[in-house]
Amino acid sequence: MDNFQKVALVTGGSRGIGEAIVKRLASDGFIVYGTYNSSPEKAEAIAESLRSDGKQVHFKKMDISSDESIRAGIEEIVAESGRIDVLVNNAGITKDTLLMRMTEQDWDDVLNTNLKGAFLCCKAVARPMMSQRAGRIINISSIVGLRGNAGQVNYSSSKAGMIGLTKSLAQELASRNILVNCIAPGYIETDMTDKLNDDQRKAFADKIPLKRAAKPEEVANVVSFFANADSTYVTGQVIAVDGGLAM
Ligand code: NDP
Repeated sequence: MDNFQKVALVTGGSRGIGEAIVKRLASDGFIVYGTYNSSPEKAEAIAESLRSDGKQVHFKKMDISSDESIRAGIEEIVAESGRIDVLVNNAGITKDTLLMRMTEQDWDDVLNTNLKGAFLCCKAVARPMMSQRAGRIINISSIVGLRGNAGQVNYSSSKAGMIGLTKSLAQELASRNILVNCIAPGYIETDMTDKLNDDQRKAFADKIPLKRAAKPEEVANVVSFFANADSTYVTGQVIAVDGGLAM
């Protein structure tokens, strides 16, 4: 084990899967920086509760659809902590509708947040990680990035793009010992899926071999695996955390 505490950045750490990742990496011993955009109170409540438990957790406002906001936020984190070991590109949005009703704005908003945001975060951490000659980037895609989904042309394109981003970056950064992997969650119980009614929930669950939705912590467990110092020879991979849905 290295004799310094490693630093992890989790985008969209204020709710859902990101919140579970922040908690898990803090328990794993990382100094964790979470980001929020529109939920400052939730972010502060998470940080306070973890700090009262002895964990080192900080939250910063960062709009993942803005290059300026990302660069300023990541520069601040690196200036404060002196390093950055893990980036989890988790922040994401949906603007679902059928193609004929989808506006150019719906497309741009989702692509800019989910895919361009992840690209910009990767770019901002690449320099410090390259000089450390070590780093981990973990992209949160979706099974709809693998399989597509009617009504989610924008979202599934952004998530498929994250898989291409993962595999290309894994090749570019391997010589600097930076490992880049991707997680494709299925149906996870968060605010994002809270919009479904009971019939939609049941219809979804019935298609899943494990016959249930997952808890956000079940995605965080896999992030923990990729972030772990012992995971030294896995890069460019996509792991579906979906109860067997996409096999
Ligand atoms: P939630 O809607 O519960 O939370 C989204 C998070 O992203 C929040 O922390 C939010 O921050 C942040 N966020 C949204 N827009 C921005 C922005 N412009 N800048 C910075 N942060 C932003 O989502 P989930 O937890 O469900 O999803 C997390 C990730 O997992 C997403 O990338 C999603 O696509 C993916 N995923 C989720 C699945 C599911 O079933 N839930 C399935 C497959 C993939 P704030 O509240 O502060 O604005």
